[in-house]
Order: sequence, then C-alpha cells, then structure tokens
Amino acid sequence: MESILVLTHADESGSALTRHSLEAVTAGKELAARLGAPLMIGIVAKHANHAASAVLNAGPRLLAVQGEAFAQARFASDRAACEALCRAAQATIVVAPQGSRFARVMAAVAHRIGGVIDTHITAIGSTDSVEATRWFYRQRIEAVITRTARPWFLLLDSGTHEPYCGEEGNAQVDEIAIAVELPALRTEVTGFRAPQQGAQTIRPDAKLLFVAGAGWTKKQPDGEVHVEEAGKLILGFLRASGASLGSSKSLVDQGGEGASVLPFLTHLNQVGQTGATPRHAKGLSTCCHGEEPHVVGWRFIGERRAISLDANCGWTRGKADVVYIADAFQVMAKVNELLAKS
Ligand SMILES: Cc1cc2nc3c(=O)[nH]c(=O)nc-3n(C[C@H](O)[C@H](O)[C@H](O)COP(=O)(O)OP(=O)(O)OC[C@H]3O[C@@H](n4cnc5c(N)ncnc54)[C@H](O)[C@@H]3O)c2cc1C
Repeated sequence: MESILVLTHADESGSALTRHSLEAVTAGKELAARLGAPLMIGIVAKHANHAASAVLNAGPRLLAVQGEAFAQARFASDRAACEALCRAAQATIVVAPQGSRFARVMAAVAHRIGGVIDTHITAIGSTDSVEATRWFYRQRIEAVITRTARPWFLLLDSGTHEPYCGEEGNAQVDEIAIAVELPALRTEVTGFRAPQQGAQTIRPDAKLLFVAGAGWTKKQPDGEVHVEEAGKLILGFLRASGASLGSSKSLVDQGGEGASVLPFLTHLNQVGQTGATPRHAKGLSTCCHGEEPHVVGWRFIGERRAISLDANCGWTRGKADVVYIADAFQVMAKVNELLAKS
C-alpha cells in the first residue's frame, strides 16, 4: 500500500508556506484521496507553527523541522531536514515543489534513502499504479512514467496545481517537530543579488505573459528606430497590467551584438526552445514573428494573442488564437492610455 509524503518549505518570512509548496499539498492530497493512501506533510521552516496550521485541515499527519538554521536555503541544512522528514515518514511516494530550494537537494535526499527521483512533473495520475506526467524535448513530447522502485520522489513544476487553501487549524508544532542532526554548516546566505536591472519583470504568478520581440528595435515605417519609446511603452504596460515580461531570443541576443537594446531584458526573459516555458492564463506577443523555436515555449499559455505587422507571420499560421495585424507601437500606446483611465 502506498503512503504519501509532501515536502514543503516556508518563504522568506520564515513561517508561511510558499505558493509552490501549497500546490504540492494539493497534488499530494488529490493523489492520497484517489489511492486511499495515508497523507503526511513535512514542513521545513524557521517557525513551523503558522505553516502547520495552514495545512492542518488538509487532513494529514504533520511533521516539521524548524529552527534558525532552516530560515535559509542551503544545501547542507535543507538536505538534512528533508532526509530526517523522509526517514520519519517512511513514505513510498514523496511529492515536493521543484523550486530552486528543493530542486538542488532532492536528488541527494533520494539517493541517501535509497529512492529514485523524477523531475519536472506536471501531473500525477493513478489507475492501478501511480503515474507521473512530464514533458520532454522542450515540451514537445508528453510522457507518463510509472516505476516500481520506492520511495519514489516526484518534483512538481510550479503552476500545475491550485495552491491548497483550507481553513486554518491550530497545530501544536512541539508534537510534530523532528530533531535533525546538522552537519557542519559552511555556507551562509548574506543577501540576494537580483539578476534583473531595475524593476522585476518576471512574474510567474501573473495572469498575463507579455512577450516583446525584435521588431521593437527594428526600423519602423518612418525609417527610424524607436527603442526609447519601445521601452517606455513596454514598461508602462507592465506597470499598469502587472503582466510578466517574456522576450524572443532575437531581442535578448541583441545585447551581445552591441546593438540598441532594451536594458531591462536579460536572457532570463527568453521564452522558447532555448528559453523558458512559463505558465500563464493568457499571452500577448508583440513585434515577434512567432517562429516554432519561440512558440514551443508557449506550450502552457492558455489563450494566445499576437500583434504583428506581418500578415504572414508564424502566429497567423495557426499558432495564436487571435492575431492583430497592426503596429504594436500604436496599439500599445492606445492600450496604455485606456489602462491609465481605468
Ligand atoms: C536551435 C534554436 C533555438 C532557438 N531558441 C529560441 C528560443 O528559445 N526563443 C526564441 O524566441 N527564439 C529561438 N530561436 C530563434 C527563432 O527561430 C527566431 O529567430 C526568433 O524567435 C525571432 O525573434 P523575433 O520574432 O522577435 O524577431 P524577427 O524574426 O526579427 O521578427 C520581428 C517581427 O516584428 C514585426 N514587427 C516589426 N515592427 C513591428 C511593429 N511596429 N508592430 C508589430 N510588429 C512589428 C516584424 O513584422 C517581424 O515579424 C531559436 C533558433 C534556433 C535555431
């Protein structure tokens, strides 16, 4: 009989679970219900009380590792915490969020307790056995994986499940706390250096993905480039709409060619085969041709719209739901004007 452990961790506050952790709780809860299997939730936090109370009504057995050492994301302490939780729970299936914090420790944890691991899981199904779904070859092939080896660790991609949201309970952390023997800690996080210059433009939780293509920096019908105006229009729209900013490869690559470029874009914004595959309910592509290596990164965008001057662009050939054959400078200026009024 299977038993399920969901590993979770707190956010920067040290006490509230991350949204991604709450998504993993939903996945674990659904799987446990389908299999009729016991559910356990393991928490890694500086203060586990609030986190435990938030998931108490999910109906699990709770386990927690807490203390100052677990306030920071650090391989040695996170590995020790997750290993202790796994050994205490003795679960056959371990579900965890594939964020930067857990992604770097979970293979080591699985190895130490003699388990196996699969990453980038987007769905967990079950008929006779547990079936984990993930995409291969830059989201072109979807595979369903089953394994007989246990414990089986499944690292869940973000944005694939609704975050668990139940009425808060009143958890007694002293009763669920697990002691952890920490190895020598040589790493201390002294601060964060953000990769973005200026405003943060990558917002995974945004409803809308706004993609800027190389057209924003190309000569326009008046024979001139208007990069400064492009920057203002894009940033104005991001501010007013709260959208996340993506880019085509051609546009971010221009930074390395010494050409005019939008200073707030980095390769982290790049969407596509050699970039990211973000998840958003809607996407709006502007000044981008919609070539396959770019559009493959739109796999998980619910509704796709594009603004392009080219009536023959890739978007018009069945890759977008709606295409506006129009000048994106004019359209976005109008959109920003309407947003300012609303
Ligand atoms: C192995 C490989 C991997 C790749 N990986 C990626 C990847 O991960 N991501 C990615 O994006 N690309 C990737 N590419 C590159 C991809 O094939 C395209 O070259 C790239 O996406 C083109 O970017 P673009 O559409 O912004 O630029 P362009 O092809 O230059 O298109 C610009 C568009 O802007 C339009 N335009 C210009 N002015 C306006 C205006 N005022 N209003 C509206 N429209 C306007 C033009 O009509 C044109 O359609 C990859 C290529 C290869 C070979």
